[in-house]
This record gives sequence, C-alpha cells and structure tokens, in this order.
Amino acid sequence: MQYTPNPDRYQNMVYNRCGKSGLMLPAVSLGLWHNFGDDKPHRVKQDICRTAFDLGITHFDLANNYGPPPGSAESAFGRVLKEDFYGLRDELLISTKAGYEMWPGPYGEWGSKKYLIASCEQSLRRMGLEYVDIFYSHRFDPNTPLEETMQALDQLVRSGKALYVGLSSYNSKRTREAVAILKSLGTPCIIHQPSYSLLNRWVEEDGLIDTLDDLGIGSIVFSPLAQGMLTTKYLKDIPENSRATQHKSLNPNFLSTQNLDRIKALNEIAESRGQTLAQMAIAWVLKKERITSALIGASRPEQVVDCVGAVKNLVFTADELADIDQYAQD
Ligand code: NDP
Repeated sequence: MQYTPNPDRYQNMVYNRCGKSGLMLPAVSLGLWHNFGDDKPHRVKQDICRTAFDLGITHFDLANNYGPPPGSAESAFGRVLKEDFYGLRDELLISTKAGYEMWPGPYGEWGSKKYLIASCEQSLRRMGLEYVDIFYSHRFDPNTPLEETMQALDQLVRSGKALYVGLSSYNSKRTREAVAILKSLGTPCIIHQPSYSLLNRWVEEDGLIDTLDDLGIGSIVFSPLAQGMLTTKYLKDIPENSRATQHKSLNPNFLSTQNLDRIKALNEIAESRGQTLAQMAIAWVLKKERITSALIGASRPEQVVDCVGAVKNLVFTADELADIDQYAQD
C-alpha cells in the first residue's frame, strides 16, 4: 500500500544540535545493522522504516557491510527510499561507513584511500543515492597513515559524495589526532559514533565524551540497549527469534546471572520512573545533553515505538543517577 507519512511526525521527537555544526539529529536514530539483510522479509523492513519516520526519526544509519550478506541492508534501504520515501530525500539524514571487511583482497577493508573511495561509490549505487549525509571511517586503521584516511574523507566531501564526515569507535587520543588533520584539510569532523550503554561505559573511562565536548563534536551512540539486553526480554528466558538465539553478535554468555540481576534492578528503577527499561536505557545515554542521539536497532516496528517513548522523560534526579550507578557496570 502507498505510504503517506504521518503529518504530525515532527511534533513529539526531540532534535539535538550535533556538536557545533548546523546539523540537528533526532534524539533517537535507527540503525540497520541487523534485521535488514536478505534473511528478513522486505515487508518488515519497510514497516520498521515507515514507523520510525512517522515518529520523527529522520536519521537512518548504515554501513557497507550490514546484511547478511554484506551490502544487502543498503540495497534494502535503497528499495525503501525508492518505494516509500520517494520525494523525501531532503527530510532524511542517511549515513554509511567503511572500515570492516567488505570484499576480498588487500583493498576491501581498513582505512586506505583506495578502499574508502571505492566503498562509498558502491554504497551510493546500492542505495540509489547521489550523496550520503554522513560518511564515517568505521574503525581506526593502525597500519594506514591517519593522514591518508582523513584525506579520503575530505575527498568524499569535496567530490560531493558526502556532506559531512565522522569517526566511529576511535578512542580519545586517535580522535584528537584525526580531528586535527581534518581541520587542517578544511573538512570538519562533526560527529563521532562510539558504543555506549548502561552496561558499556568505556567512553566515560577513556575520556572520549569529555574530548568530544572539548572539540565541539556531536555524538551518536550505538547499541544503547546493549543489543537488547537492556529490555525485559531476557529476564525470564531467551525468546525464540531474539538476537541471542541466532548466533549473531549477542553472545548468550553475556546473559550471566550477575548481568541479569543488574538488569532486574535497573528495570525496577525504570518502573519507578514510569518508563520501560528500554526507554530508561535510552534516556540515560542522552542525560545532561552530552550525547546527541541514541542509535537503536529494531526487529519489529513496536520496538521502535517503545524506544521513541524515551523522549517523554529524559530527566534524572541525582538520587536516581546514584541508584543506577550501582548496577550500570561493564
Ligand atoms: P540496540 O542496543 O538498540 O539493540 C537493538 C536490539 O534490541 C533489537 O534488534 C532488538 O533485539 C532489541 N530491542 C530494541 N528495542 C527493543 C524494545 N523496545 N523492546 C525489546 N527489545 C528491543 O542497538 P544495535 O546493537 O542494534 O545497534 C544499533 C545500530 O548502531 C546499528 O544498527 C548500527 O547502525 C549501529 N552500530 C554501529 C557500530 C559501529 O561500529 N559503528 C557497531 C554496532 C552497531 P531483537 O533483534 O532480539 O528483537
């Protein structure tokens, strides 16, 4: 059926400025890492994207290798763009990345200019786009000069293939170095994409959040639900069709008794705030406005609805934060 976007889609979402740039990001963004490969029906992917856009999620995050097979998530999103989001390109913020293995041989991964430029071209073809809004270096490459990786990002902007560039999972030290190179080239780094959640606080320990504040760079944090652990779905058992059953990235060993006890305690705090655990987990990463956007994934449209409900209550008392700190540990 023909899709007509919800006319009220911008009423309830919160939009945050991405660092000191001109770009605004929705407080909740949608990532297509899982659930957008050829192993899932297109109808579900379409419903997830439509639901997200109807709720004010303007930002869709991809990478060259999302699938399975690698590349298929971009192709699926290209179909959504063509069939559902036709005419809406200027209301959408689309990102992709390169850094992980994408094709065989020495030019199919990491951070060379050879790989990044070719990969971006391929991503654009798969999505049917002339440009992406944000292109990321997906990971730091210890064997390629950082100058070369940053020159590739600069070239993508100058050639009109990307509007903005970002870094993903670079630590604080590497971020400072990369940002300085990009600045010298005249292409600012506007965004960083690290992992961050109640169960994964490396960005605090590493000092990355302080670094980004200091540099005026925005942040979009991935896996804020710890791949689904920060919901109630695993509290009784491991449900069929969940990420932990499909030999995917969520190792069932993470669902240890110690972690489940923490999750139960966090769920009680969420209930006392009148939120679901997923909503509190998202609100927590967005607290004090230091993080620009929480980048979620979803296997069903209802999960997107639940997650977006987080923006109704983003404020924590000092007591709540102290209480949460007892259980929010890596
Ligand atoms: P999340 O931590 O949000 O986990 C998403 C999973 O949690 C869903 O697939 C679903 O699991 C479950 N879930 C989501 N909402 C709910 C809900 N309301 N109730 C119950 N369960 C829920 O994020 P992801 O790990 O998926 O990562 C999000 C995005 O971040 C990716 O798509 C990608 O764009 C980006 N990313 C970037 C990386 C990088 O290196 N830059 C690395 C990893 C991710 P289930 O499928 O079991 O139903």
